[in-house]
Amino acid sequence: MCGIVGYTGNEAAAPILLDGLSKLEYRGYDSAGIAVFDPESRETAVVRAPGRLLNLVQKTDGGAAVPGNCGIGHTRWATHGEPTEANAHPHHSAGDLVIGAHNGIIENYQELKQKLLRHDYTFYSDTDTEVAVNLVDYYYKKYNIGPIDAIAKAMVRIRGTYALALMFRDYPGEIWVARKDSPLIIGLTDDAALLASDVPAILKYTRTVYYIDNLEMARLTPGHVTFYDLNGDAVEKESTEITWDAEAAEKGGYEHFMLKEIHEQPKAVRDTLGCYIHDNVIDLSATGLTEEFMRSLERLYIIGCGSAYHVGAAGKYIIEDLADIPVETDLASEFRYRNPRFAKNSLMIVISQSGETADTLAALRMAKERGVPVLAVVNVVGSSIARECDYCMYTYAGPEIAVATTKAYSAQLVSIYMLAVRLGRLRGVLDEETYAADIAEMTALPDKMERVLEDKERIQWFASKFANAHDIFFVGRGADYAISLEGSLKMKEISYIHSEAYAAGELKHGTISLVEDGTLVIGVLTQKDLLEKTVSNMTECRARGAYLMGLTSYGNYFVEDSDDFTIYVPKAEEHFIGSLAIIPLQLLGYYTGVARGVDVDKPRNLAKSVTVE
Ligand code: GLU
Repeated sequence: MCGIVGYTGNEAAAPILLDGLSKLEYRGYDSAGIAVFDPESRETAVVRAPGRLLNLVQKTDGGAAVPGNCGIGHTRWATHGEPTEANAHPHHSAGDLVIGAHNGIIENYQELKQKLLRHDYTFYSDTDTEVAVNLVDYYYKKYNIGPIDAIAKAMVRIRGTYALALMFRDYPGEIWVARKDSPLIIGLTDDAALLASDVPAILKYTRTVYYIDNLEMARLTPGHVTFYDLNGDAVEKESTEITWDAEAAEKGGYEHFMLKEIHEQPKAVRDTLGCYIHDNVIDLSATGLTEEFMRSLERLYIIGCGSAYHVGAAGKYIIEDLADIPVETDLASEFRYRNPRFAKNSLMIVISQSGETADTLAALRMAKERGVPVLAVVNVVGSSIARECDYCMYTYAGPEIAVATTKAYSAQLVSIYMLAVRLGRLRGVLDEETYAADIAEMTALPDKMERVLEDKERIQWFASKFANAHDIFFVGRGADYAISLEGSLKMKEISYIHSEAYAAGELKHGTISLVEDGTLVIGVLTQKDLLEKTVSNMTECRARGAYLMGLTSYGNYFVEDSDDFTIYVPKAEEHFIGSLAIIPLQLLGYYTGVARGVDVDKPRNLAKSVTVE
């Protein structure tokens, strides 16, 4: 959520800040602002604008109207106070000594605000951020100390999450940052230093990045960065070279990032499988998991939010079936506030594209505190979850920009397949032959996914027919239900049409009362033993006026006798066919969103990386 950038060097800062913010737009925001120090006038100009970044670009003449070569920028996803200009970042302390931009939430901001009010501080915004900036100002002045010590004192008092970028009037040309649980990276060139919430914002300028850890601070000057711990002691850090290229974060001729990313799924899946399958053997040693440990497991907990949770929902069916281990799947936001009874010899699997999802990170920490090891399935290298887990299974989806996930979801799903098959073989549930056949089935998926994508015109046509729908229900049983959950989420995220996913058997227990003339009911019908039952549930809906779409595999032509429109995907082993079935549903959501004129890459109210709980 929100984007934060900073630059200090020889170039004009404002255009670089605006460019960086544009690369972070995918994260979701509702206002934007920059602050730039001008060495000529010795003043720091702050310009902010509600709404799209374009408003800020226009207001600053593309940055030309804001001279200077040191500055910070921010796209805000409002948590405290409306998305107005007054609440937009950067914020300045009373007296303008400190200027700051912040991503995250200061949980105890009321208490801190009261304290500052008692010391005659005044406030002009509703944000928690303004409180944090003033708190730093307060310690800086009260103890007459340097920025690092003042920030450290504020960090000790603040509860919550933050990536904080600050400029001090007394330290022109320098940027000071602090971080706790919100993403932040630092990039260096020979003569500049940059900061950002995510790599695409700085990739044009450098591939050398540093990951700043929780409760650390840094001082950025042109060409240099120094890291500090909470005691104010300097910390040594190794830089990392980013290997993917800037083009991966561009649209490459597609109308939207989402469509591009839907088409990148065969590659994302091929790359992810290729990382763990060598010579027809699944090798998870890169994750740190040992065979002995995997054999010892008696229970798995799969935890995630949104689409990552849906991967877990599918994982439950697949792992229980292939590896004969009980699996509990839960939403991270629920799990973290439950008091779960962890079974002995259990493993928690957390799934997150960004590796920064606040609730998932909290669930991970809870498991670790209770001595339960954690395996993370994560796309972003060096993210908080990747660093804090015990075992890390990276997905190789590349940068995902569209808010609605597609390729990261698909890469996560095949990661779970590999885990299931590996566990199944190790535990003797799968014999050598089935193991080999499963691996062959998995490796055949990318080509089959390409075939599904070739059929997209039919889905586009169907989407235009139903673009004015009010309600859509997705139904399925077993693994088909898990795919329905994800298909429905795609639909509501990017078309704004109300949609729900139901286990088909549940319809009669209430939902069927919502079915009326013309209601679209989409049945996912890939599981041989279950699909006839789902078809029956669908026909019950048709008897009440519903229009039926069936999604099944080639060969199941009898489905056409019962539904109104059928989509086919290639045949595949039933545990893995979800990777094919999801694609038409992603395309359906996408084309429906486009037909309705929705900004599909940045749907309203949503953020890519959900760093607040
Ligand atoms: N909590 C801050 C605000 O509402 C920052 C939100 C963000 O991360 O953009 O202003």
